[in-house]
Amino acid sequence: MAVRVRFAPSPTGALHIGGVRTALYNYLFARQQKGTFILRIEDTDQGRYVPGAEDYIIEALKWVGLLPDEGVGFGGPDGPYRQSDRKEIYHKYAHDLVARGHAYYAFDTPVELDERRQAEEHFTYNYISRNGLNNSLVLDPEAVQQRIAQGDPFVIRLKVEPGRSIVIHDLIRGEVVFESSELDDKVLLKADGMPTYHLANIVDDHLMRITHVIRGEEWLPSTAHHVLLYEGFGWQETMPKFSHLPLIMKPVGNGKLSKRDGAKFGIPVFPLSWKGDTPEESFEGFREAGFLPEAVVNFLALLGWHPGGDQEIFTKEELIQAFSIEHIGKSGARFDFEKAKSFNQKYIHAKDNASLAAMVRPLADAKGYQVSDAFLEKAVGLMKERVTFLQDFVETGYYLFEPVKSNDEETLQKRWNGDIAAVFAELTEKVATFDSFNAVALEDAIKQFMQEKQLKPGDILPLLRIALAGTMKGPAVFEMAEILGREATVARLRALQESR
Ligand code: GLU
Repeated sequence: MAVRVRFAPSPTGALHIGGVRTALYNYLFARQQKGTFILRIEDTDQGRYVPGAEDYIIEALKWVGLLPDEGVGFGGPDGPYRQSDRKEIYHKYAHDLVARGHAYYAFDTPVELDERRQAEEHFTYNYISRNGLNNSLVLDPEAVQQRIAQGDPFVIRLKVEPGRSIVIHDLIRGEVVFESSELDDKVLLKADGMPTYHLANIVDDHLMRITHVIRGEEWLPSTAHHVLLYEGFGWQETMPKFSHLPLIMKPVGNGKLSKRDGAKFGIPVFPLSWKGDTPEESFEGFREAGFLPEAVVNFLALLGWHPGGDQEIFTKEELIQAFSIEHIGKSGARFDFEKAKSFNQKYIHAKDNASLAAMVRPLADAKGYQVSDAFLEKAVGLMKERVTFLQDFVETGYYLFEPVKSNDEETLQKRWNGDIAAVFAELTEKVATFDSFNAVALEDAIKQFMQEKQLKPGDILPLLRIALAGTMKGPAVFEMAEILGREATVARLRALQESR
C-alpha cells in the first residue's frame, strides 16, 4: 500500500522547532517510501486559534524545504485540508458513531459538570459516572429525541467499554498497553458543532488514507482513544501504524525544551521569528539568527534519530536514503545548540559563494554597505571558513566593507616599534605604487621586500593583517588586500601608522 503520512499542526502560535522535526521525519519517510506527504491544519479549537499561525507554518516548511505534496496551500484530491472547512464531515461521522452504539449524546451543561468537579476531586466522565449523568444512555429515547428537536445543547461522547486492554504497536516504542477502565468518555463533537481533536484527527486520517502516524510523544495517551474510534467506526483494517517521537529536552538540566528556553538560554527554538503581542511572546527564529536551512534540517534529523556509524553531515538526499523509524530513540533528545552551530559553520563553509552572497545581500544592505555582487561574492568566499552565522559576514567581517574600527592592541604592543614603523612606512609607499593589485603579485612583491630588508614574516605580516582587519583572525592578508583594492589598502596602512 502506498505510504501516506501527514503533518497536522494546530495553528495556535509559532511552530516550535520540535514541530519542524515532526514534519521532517514525516517528510523523510514519505520520500524514502515514494509516498505522499500531506499538510493538514488542525484548527478545530477555535479558542486557541491564532491569526497568522497557519501562514507561519507554511512559510517555515518552505524555508526548510519540506514541501508537502498535498495540503493547505498545496492542493490535492483529498481536500479540504483545513479542518474548519470540514465541519459537516465530522458531524455525519459523530452521529454515525452514536447509531453504531459507540458514542452517545450528553446534555450535561458546563455548569453542572463544574459542580461535579468541585464536589468530587477526581471526577471524570466515564463508564461509572455516566450512569448518573444526563445522557442518552440514561434518558429514555423519546426524551433524547425531544431534547435534540427543541435545540437543547449537547455534546457527543465516545462510549468507552471498561475491562479490556488496548494494545498499541508503536514502531518506536514497541507494545504499549492502556486499560480501557482508566479512560474517560472523551467528547467527540462539541456543543458548538465543532469536532474535538480526537474525532477530526481520526476521521481525517481515515478519509485521507493515512498509513503511518508519526507525531510527538505527548499524543501517545490519546492513541488509546484513537484505537477505540477506529474500532467503533469499523476501520481497524486500515488503521495507521503509530510512531511516537521522543521529546526534545532542554540544552541543560531536566525537562522538555519550551518556548521560554529560547530567551533563557539565548538560543532560537523556532524556525522563523514570530512577532507576538508582547516582547515575551515574540521569538527569534533560526532563520533570523543566521542559520542555513540545510544545517537546521541536518541538526533536527539527528535530534532523536540515530543512524549508527560516524557520519554526521547528511544531505537531504542522504537523509532520505538512510532514514528509518526503527532507529529513532525512545528517550528524550537533548537540544545541543553548540552542535547546531557547528553544523551551520560546516554548511556555510561548503556553500558556493554566489548563493551565500545572495543570502548576505539583505544583511549588507541593512548595514548600508554599497557593494557589487562581484565584490560580495569575493568577500563571502574569503570569510566563509571563519563564520558561524550569516550575520558574521557583516558583523565579525565588517572590515571588508568599512574601515577598521578597533585594533588588536595586545599584538600591536608586542610587535610595533620604531624600526618596524620605518619599514612599515616604506612598504606602504611601495604598495601605493604597485601595478597589478592582485593577491599573487602582492605576495611576491611583499615577500621580496621582506627579504631585502631581512625581515621575518612575523615582523610585518601580522601588522599588515591588523592594518587591514584590526584583528589577527581575519582572512588571508594578500587576498584581503586584493579585494579591498589599492586605495582602501593604502588608506588602512596609513591609518595604522597614524594611530601609533
Ligand atoms: N494537531 C495535533 C498537534 O498540534 C496533531 C497531533 C497528531 O499528529 O495527531 O500536534
